[in-house]
Amino acid sequence: MPSAGEPPDRPIRFVELSVAAHVEAVEAVSEILDRVGSGGIAVDVPLEDGPPHVVKAYVVYDRAARVKVRRVKEAIGRLRAFGLGPVGEVEVRRVRDLDWLEAWKAQFVPVRIGPFFVRPSWSEVRGSLRAQGTEIVLDPGMAFGTGLHPTTRQCLEAVGGIRLEGRTVLDVGTGSGILAIGAARRGAARVVGVDTDPLAVRAARENAERNGVAIEVREGSASDVGGTFDVVLANLVADVLVTIARDLRGRVADGGTLVCAGIVTPKEDAVRAAFAAQGLDVTARDQRDDWVALTLG
Ligand code: SAH
Repeated sequence: MPSAGEPPDRPIRFVELSVAAHVEAVEAVSEILDRVGSGGIAVDVPLEDGPPHVVKAYVVYDRAARVKVRRVKEAIGRLRAFGLGPVGEVEVRRVRDLDWLEAWKAQFVPVRIGPFFVRPSWSEVRGSLRAQGTEIVLDPGMAFGTGLHPTTRQCLEAVGGIRLEGRTVLDVGTGSGILAIGAARRGAARVVGVDTDPLAVRAARENAERNGVAIEVREGSASDVGGTFDVVLANLVADVLVTIARDLRGRVADGGTLVCAGIVTPKEDAVRAAFAAQGLDVTARDQRDDWVALTLG
């Protein structure tokens, strides 16, 4: 059912759920939407006092979508019954591939991920939400890593959960630099980011500066860095992880931790085998949609 002006041939990929909520209810509404959303939630924060916050989630448009939408409506209905400040109706909108990208770029979409609060550089945030997290300000430019992708989210949560004070961190495939910046903000003593894409290198450097953190960003991969690191992050794709498993292993210090993500479920066994061959065991596993993240040590 394309609306006016939209080409009818692009497939619908997501259902956008948005709920307007009073600031006191934002946390609770976010939790409900977070359960069904792919890639986290976005909160539009009013710049001036007055209009409510709007919490959004994007549900993958598949057979399960209808049930998820119904569950959200039921849960929001129950929330209203608690009288937690005014909460609006659940607005449902189908979005196409391109809309999704444009929505991310054009909208004001700060995202809370683990202990972090990720904010696009073109937006301003005021009020209580900002105070809730360690802020990361990003302009992804052409580089991947806006914080909305499930794999980025998995890694950022891992970064939030590992003790990093005084430790060394290598981020392989740093993209926008989001994970490296997160690690630096969590007190890592030295953070190195590498990426084979020169555009990513530039974006990561700019973003590090924007966040006032010192990160060494270099063009290249795990094999281009010397020494070992307490924590190695690698949000790549399964095939690349398998190919460079040995190089990644070589960068992990004794007793160190490797976080790998970007693994689609059918390739999980191959990735596990590649790292087992390097003497690394899986210590934690996280799955979001079809994406698996593995922590190894
Ligand atoms: N770390 C960011 C970006 C992940 S996207 C995040 O978590 O959101 C993966 C990045 O890896 C891309 O920027 C891509 O250019 C880079 N990349 C792909 N193959 C690589 C390789 N073999 N070595 C290093 N970087 C690589």
